[in-house]
Amino acid sequence: MIRLVLVGAAGRMGRAVEAAAAGASDLAISARVDLSANFPADAGVWSESVASVLGRGDVVVDFSSPRGAREAAAACVEKGAALVSGSTGLTGEDAAALQAAALRVAVLRASNFSLGVAALRVALRSALAAVPSDWDVEIVERHHRMKKDSPSGTALALAADVRLARSLPESALRHGRQGSVGQRPAGEVGVHAVRGGTWVGDHQVLLAGDGEWLELRHVAQDRAAFANGALAAARFVATAGPGAYTLEDVLRAPAAARSARNPAR
Ligand code: NAD
Repeated sequence: MIRLVLVGAAGRMGRAVEAAAAGASDLAISARVDLSANFPADAGVWSESVASVLGRGDVVVDFSSPRGAREAAAACVEKGAALVSGSTGLTGEDAAALQAAALRVAVLRASNFSLGVAALRVALRSALAAVPSDWDVEIVERHHRMKKDSPSGTALALAADVRLARSLPESALRHGRQGSVGQRPAGEVGVHAVRGGTWVGDHQVLLAGDGEWLELRHVAQDRAAFANGALAAARFVATAGPGAYTLEDVLRAPAAARSARNPAR
């Protein structure tokens, strides 16, 4: 049985992971961590401090905030636990802290845990190789009104894929346009964040040539898509040695290891 410590347990993603874990027979949530002062009574172990509830061999699943991710990484190193982190909006310093933790324990970080987005990234690399290199690329993402960071971590990952495929510098990213900005320069990658309503996550990559365009799009309708991917990642890191892993490592693992489910379901 894999013991999970869920950081950000009271949040939207925390509740989705809780629901997904309830349907699995091979893992159980041993403790929940959140800053929220109103921990539900009779709902297992709750704490404000991840270090105080974490044990050797546990797996931390973190969907909280950049600070929560950093605290989780430090606690995992201290206790010898593996980390699955989905928090977004990390600074370079936060990301470096997770990378340093990966020298000591297994760390799997993803800006999007849905398997469909992993497939979108594969499809994008393939489309970029197939269309002329002067086609314009614009990324449009939509998320619910409560989302704090913009653009989304997934949009930035898609933009990084485009930059890598085309050898473009970071300065190629164009975050929104306003005013008399002139003609679109070659080699620009537009990134646009739409916020409103209850959109769970919608990412479009537009490849535009002369007189034609191609659209690749992924829509997450339910947070279960991310929660199931995070649990697959938790199964993976539970037996992995120290290192920085990605969702693609999980996809390459045998299917049985990814999706052990409650046989009663
Ligand atoms: P949310 O605001 O609903 O929940 C976040 C929870 O984390 C809150 O209950 C908050 O009290 C708690 N929290 C914040 N800082 C904390 C800390 N230092 N220690 C403990 N708890 C802390 O947000 P959400 O929609 O559940 O998203 C959480 C994070 O996950 C965000 O960064 C979001 O962008 C990201 N996210 C990632 C994916 C993915 O697939 N990687 C998918 C959805 C959301």
